[in-house]
Amino acid sequence: MSILVVGGAGYIGSHAAKYLSEKGRRVVVLDNLSTGHRDAIGDFPFYEVDLRDLDAVEAVLRKEKITAVMHFAAKSLVGESVAMPLEYYDNNTVGMLRLLEAMRRLEINNIIFSSTAAVYGEVEKMPITEDVPCRPKSPYGSSKLMMEEMMQAFDQAYGMRYVALRYFNAAGAAKDGSLGERHSPETHLIPIILDTALGRREKIEIFGSDYPTPDGTCIRDYIHVEDLISAHLLALERLEQGGDSAIYNLASQSGFSNLEVLAAAREVTGAEIPHVMGERRAGDPAVLIADNRKAIAELGWELKHNDIHEIIGDAWNFHKKFFGQD
Ligand code: UDP
Repeated sequence: MSILVVGGAGYIGSHAAKYLSEKGRRVVVLDNLSTGHRDAIGDFPFYEVDLRDLDAVEAVLRKEKITAVMHFAAKSLVGESVAMPLEYYDNNTVGMLRLLEAMRRLEINNIIFSSTAAVYGEVEKMPITEDVPCRPKSPYGSSKLMMEEMMQAFDQAYGMRYVALRYFNAAGAAKDGSLGERHSPETHLIPIILDTALGRREKIEIFGSDYPTPDGTCIRDYIHVEDLISAHLLALERLEQGGDSAIYNLASQSGFSNLEVLAAAREVTGAEIPHVMGERRAGDPAVLIADNRKAIAELGWELKHNDIHEIIGDAWNFHKKFFGQD
């Protein structure tokens, strides 16, 4: 019973590998290190392999006697995907097709997949439930929806079962400070705010102040990375116990505006964190909040760190430790 964590050098994948191993699972990591970090992998058997290299992926699955796959490896920036659709469809969608093909050859029938809120596009009704029609607005969202659809087709044709987990805004860091968020370049709100708190940036620009929200800034649904990951093991257990394929939102079902996140970060860090209000960022919906009741009811999922101060506090511990010596 070995689990292949694809993308295990990335932010969420590295947390998953650590958590699964702490829960007694044998973990093997596969990553092409295009955006991930070698030092986030720890002591797990590691293969520097690109998913599009079908024979190499198949060889890893065979050699390590993999019984289930968790797939975290994808390019994930909305704006970048608009500018570079080829890279997104190739890396994300074609990568998934090759992975499914390799799994099919070896009759590995369980896959847990990192999907995204971006598959929904603009939704009128909040909180978003899993059954609303998906109309992604970017190549990123579309590449991920295609990946979900491929898994569904493989289930129908070959009985390969999947759980697609649609993440809202993953944030925070490992409680022990060993892992956290570090993208290069960084584009996400909380790490940029924390960079400013550390003095590595002069100010944070808040994108848009004229949204139809109480303070005019976008509202997002933040979820602690450790809560996010616990749902993955529950999803795997569902499949291992013979459960059907399923799709779940992973979210807190509560929203914070960009200015509220900034205010909470000022409280947590005690730093001034200068900010300026800027133009809207293309493609940002005003509000994204998800209904999380399906995952709670069907997976028995529990949110344990559902407080924005705790989420930012854990991110801050990691951020200081990792970037504080610059
Ligand atoms: N944001 C911002 N300034 C930044 C980075 C992000 O105002 O320097 C805003 C962004 O426009 C969005 C929110 O923060 O309204 C969350 O963005 P992020 O990129 O963290 O996550 P996303 O919602 O795009 O997945």
